[in-house]
Amino acid sequence: MPFIVAVLVAVIVLAQALTLWRSYQATWSLASISAENVLNTIAANIERNLSIIDLSVRGAVDAFSANGVKDLAPELRRVVLFDRAASAQYLGQLVILDRNGDVIEASGSRQPHQINLADRDYFRAQVNGQAGLYVSAPFRSRLRDNDPSIALSRRISGPDGSFEGVVLAALRLAFFQSLLDTVNLGPESAISITRTDGTIIVRSPSTDDTGNSGLNVATSPVFQRMILRPGEPFSERSQLDGIDRHYLHTIIGEFPLLLSVGISPAAAMAEWTESALISSALTVAMCMLLIVLVRALRLALMRSQEVEAQLKILAVTDELTGLPNRRAFDLALGSEMRRAARNRSSLAVLLIDVDHFKRINDRFGHAVGDVVLARIAREISRCIRRPGDFAARYGGEEFVAILPATEAGGASFLAERMRLTIASMEPCPGEPSLAKVTVSIGVAATLAQPSSSGAELVTWADRALYEAKGAGRNRVACYREDERATPMSSSRMPSGS
Ligand code: GH3
Ligand code: MG
Ligand code: MG
Repeated sequence: MPFIVAVLVAVIVLAQALTLWRSYQATWSLASISAENVLNTIAANIERNLSIIDLSVRGAVDAFSANGVKDLAPELRRVVLFDRAASAQYLGQLVILDRNGDVIEASGSRQPHQINLADRDYFRAQVNGQAGLYVSAPFRSRLRDNDPSIALSRRISGPDGSFEGVVLAALRLAFFQSLLDTVNLGPESAISITRTDGTIIVRSPSTDDTGNSGLNVATSPVFQRMILRPGEPFSERSQLDGIDRHYLHTIIGEFPLLLSVGISPAAAMAEWTESALISSALTVAMCMLLIVLVRALRLALMRSQEVEAQLKILAVTDELTGLPNRRAFDLALGSEMRRAARNRSSLAVLLIDVDHFKRINDRFGHAVGDVVLARIAREISRCIRRPGDFAARYGGEEFVAILPATEAGGASFLAERMRLTIASMEPCPGEPSLAKVTVSIGVAATLAQPSSSGAELVTWADRALYEAKGAGRNRVACYREDERATPMSSSRMPSGS
């Protein structure tokens, strides 16, 4: 039973663990897929917008280098230099700088600012070499009221390859911010756009109210892992806010920009954790209930088995003397007779009757009579000591004994010893005036045959008992099949008191 319960509990716990594991995987993969979708969507959006802006920058470079454009009227020149993309919502301005960094043309303004931007990284990067498209670090625009921006710049080269100037498109950081604001990846998630040199363009949530723009995280473990293994998801603790996240990241198109999305496993799995705790608690409670129920059931079963066994014993036990009762005697006699017949052995029966017991009852009362019966029963039990010997209360003041493998002589000898023992015992310690009681014993023995009957043997013993009573009581008589029952011994002691 405990083994079955253990197996049952193990099966329940395993099934629960499997269910939890599967739901964990499903929940986590849903969170990962959402994060991946967000990553891809935002990356595609940024790539598309930057590509369009770059097209405008290229267009301006080509137009500026084309013959005759410089000689056009300013109004017309601007139409040729700057296409419609230059008026896009988040595009700050398309600006052309000469080789000294002075603004010579700017989209959207007739009179360009008298301003020099030679100190900006997007200018310096183009002066010396073949930077191609350059994406600047975040800066505050001097042309547009300190509006936080980045710039995409390309070099204008003369026919001989000499440096002629720079075309730049300023892109407001509000563009990136508005993109990141549309995303909700759950609590404790983070999303950031970083240059591949580790300079943050914008991060959400920000830890400094400015989108962490310009902050360099090149040495942070998170950034290092992104650069070392591009596109490979990983889990790491953020140096900026100390939160453990699972990061997905990608390079945005051909641009030197890195987009990363970090989701917090703790937050993403919070709901799952709560329901897992509840269902685990329920499972534990269920298992405990099962164990308690099975234990209670087992105890009840054991108790009922005990009670059944006791009832069985009670059903074959005489309450007053503690000896087996008449029913038990009948059963025992039947089986002993069959056994004796099989073994071709002798079987003897003693029928023991208390002499003048009625007088004892009449003189001393039934309670004393009961004590006497109990003490006689104890003496009878003591007298038969061989294994297989069996004594019972036959009814009233009569007792019976079965003696397997015993012939008439041996049975009579034992009966005589029994008679003497009972005659010499103290019949009732609380009643000194009751000095002694005697019994008469009828003995019958037979060499058992398959046809032998126990009832017949008892009848013979009863006859012998009758003989003993008739011969004066307090004696043993033995019945022989060939002759009448003969008293074997008697006592001159008066029976009764
Ligand atoms: P005899 O020597 O011929 O056997 O005489 P007796 O008085 O022993 O025989 P009788 O059959 O006349 O009486 C038996 C008595 O045993 C009658 C009955 O009240 C008494 N008796 C039977 N069962 C019990 C019992 O359980 N307790 C008590 N106290 N007396 C019992
Ligand atoms: Mg009697
Ligand atoms: Mg009697």
